[in-house]
Amino acid sequence: MLKNLILSLVIPAPFFNTGAAQGPASSPENLIIVTLDGYRWQEFFGGLQQKMLESRYCHQPELLQRDFGADTPQESRRRIMPFMWDVIARQGVVLGNPAYGSRHNLRNPYWFSYPGYSELFCGRVDKKINSNGYRRNPNFTLFDALAADARFRGRMAIFGTWNAFPRIINAWRNGTDYFVDLSPDSGSGLRSRPLHFRTYWTRPPASFAGAEKDTFTFRFAMEYITRFKPRVVHIGFDETDHFGHSGHYDHYIRAAHLQDAYLRYLWDWIQDVPEYRNKTLLVVTTDHGRGEDPVEKWQHHNRRHGGREVWVAMMGPGVPAAGEWQQPADTWQEQVAPTLAALMGVHMKPHKKLAQPLEPVIKGLEKQ
Ligand SMILES: [Zn+2]
Repeated sequence: MLKNLILSLVIPAPFFNTGAAQGPASSPENLIIVTLDGYRWQEFFGGLQQKMLESRYCHQPELLQRDFGADTPQESRRRIMPFMWDVIARQGVVLGNPAYGSRHNLRNPYWFSYPGYSELFCGRVDKKINSNGYRRNPNFTLFDALAADARFRGRMAIFGTWNAFPRIINAWRNGTDYFVDLSPDSGSGLRSRPLHFRTYWTRPPASFAGAEKDTFTFRFAMEYITRFKPRVVHIGFDETDHFGHSGHYDHYIRAAHLQDAYLRYLWDWIQDVPEYRNKTLLVVTTDHGRGEDPVEKWQHHNRRHGGREVWVAMMGPGVPAAGEWQQPADTWQEQVAPTLAALMGVHMKPHKKLAQPLEPVIKGLEKQ
């Protein structure tokens, strides 16, 4: 089954062009990282999964088929995430499609959120970070590297519903503004606003009770970005993981579809505003995958259920417009922070375990 799926994902397309740097030669002036918590590579690269549609986790398979079904995995994934595949995959790089033998892996051995985001933002794995309740991250993060540069200091903000994000990047150490958990004591730039969002919070329809409200995260982020024009932003969407754990495949897919719509809205705004237009690096990734086989393992992610393989996509100044990387080689999530540091022209603190930048991206950079 898996083998068939992987073979069916292989489409004739030009090989990744390792030398072709495109776009402006200068460094990006802004960095926006968007994470889709727990959205696994199977749907990201392959669209709707038949065995999930037939499982007890899918409640309205005919409606999902109507909205996102297709004859090929490429078309199905595009119907779920049209901005990703029509825009990012054409103007930037997408890594991790196992159909080409190109696996993008977590280096950390835990496969859940805090260790996943810490690896993403620190450029290396600290095995002591083994719980979601872990204290403020003692390790040097990409946000620390950016805060050391006057271009970015005091102009960084993060948004999410999960209150671990400020601890993961250690916002207190690098002065990053944060809005998490829809609580009135965060998001210091807009103190009056979270109260409004708390009012809205009670209003979604009952079928979405317990949903993690990405729409509020996004609206608040857009409002903040529009008002304060930060140079570095992380938006952490959560509903994909939430609906995985709660066993709702329909909502899991629809959450990814909405997250993609938010990305398009954000990018359209970016390309409309002089401070951001053609100066912004956009990175989209996830913190972990999910289990696959048997089908029950999809609901969760850890050493027992699976979830080591992930994916990452980016576009913007300095990133080659190379599409899906098609070389059979492994890349690692810990390589993302050193890559972004190189693209933004800042320095990660030297450490014997610090990962190397991603070659598919940096090769383009070196040719400029
Ligand atoms: Zn989870």
